[in-house]
Amino acid sequence: MIGTASELTLGHTAPQARPRWWQHLCLPSLALAGLTAGILWVAVAELLRQGNLSTVLTAGWVELAAPLLIALVVVTGICERIWPAEGRPILARGHVQDACYLALHAMVVIPLMTMLSVGAAALIGTQSRWIELRPAAHWPGWLLIPLTIAAMDGANWLAHYADHRLDALWRFHALHHSQEELSVLTSFRAHPLMHTTGFVLATIPVVVLMPARPIDPVLITIYVCIGTLQHANLRWTFGPVGRVIVSPAYHRLHHAMDTQAVNLGVVLTIWDILAGYARFPSRAAGPGRTGLAGRPVPVEQGNSGAPALLLLAGQLIEPFQARD
Ligand SMILES: [Zn+2]
Ligand SMILES: [Zn+2]
Repeated sequence: MIGTASELTLGHTAPQARPRWWQHLCLPSLALAGLTAGILWVAVAELLRQGNLSTVLTAGWVELAAPLLIALVVVTGICERIWPAEGRPILARGHVQDACYLALHAMVVIPLMTMLSVGAAALIGTQSRWIELRPAAHWPGWLLIPLTIAAMDGANWLAHYADHRLDALWRFHALHHSQEELSVLTSFRAHPLMHTTGFVLATIPVVVLMPARPIDPVLITIYVCIGTLQHANLRWTFGPVGRVIVSPAYHRLHHAMDTQAVNLGVVLTIWDILAGYARFPSRAAGPGRTGLAGRPVPVEQGNSGAPALLLLAGQLIEPFQARD
């Protein structure tokens, strides 16, 4: 590189200007945090106006921390000990770290998800007269409910696609992909702000198809259970059913170090098939390595030796730090 005239004359390089404090921050990440705060503000205002804030938060717990989901996590954990895809100690660092995320999920993420749903419904609902499909009000439940859940799954696929395509969203999604020791607990290893786009997009089909009829909470719980099972440390492909429903082996390919562009499906594989992103696993292939090459997110398998909670704080702060 050619220096400036003054540098050449003086024979030294001018001192570099020190970056300002805000140059250390990732501004798109702050923007997403601000958007999320705005949706939560709308949700709280709406529920306070209706006088049922605690009722809605309790209902969110019933849906997202149902006994069925807790039982699924316990039973899957036992299956992982009996038929592990990768053998490792029960207190492997990845398991301990993801257990911390389970606690965060219970304390912070479930109320956050509930309020995001309410806020998104309140915001999108203001446009319902434009987007509501009025004939759907006369469709039978056996058609309308599966259709709405499938459309919500499609919206979740789209949000996941955006997580991988847009750098601002990837900064939050990368934490989920950083796990090198997948287990059923990895389902809860997610930055709280990773959920904003998914909940906003998944609200649209509900407003379009079922604005006046709530979906049975049991169906939502079953949906969440299937989505949770996909991270299990198991080789299960679900056989022929795995062509339709995302299996642990199918989703593991999405977490592989070299094939994250495939298998974006959350519960149904149809969206991957339609988009040409489906790659079905074979039991003979064996489990590949998971995680992120170069470890851009600090991970427990690194050499820091930091306590789990301190590392968790570092992982949550990481998306807000500007990268060179
Ligand atoms: Zn992903
Ligand atoms: Zn995953």
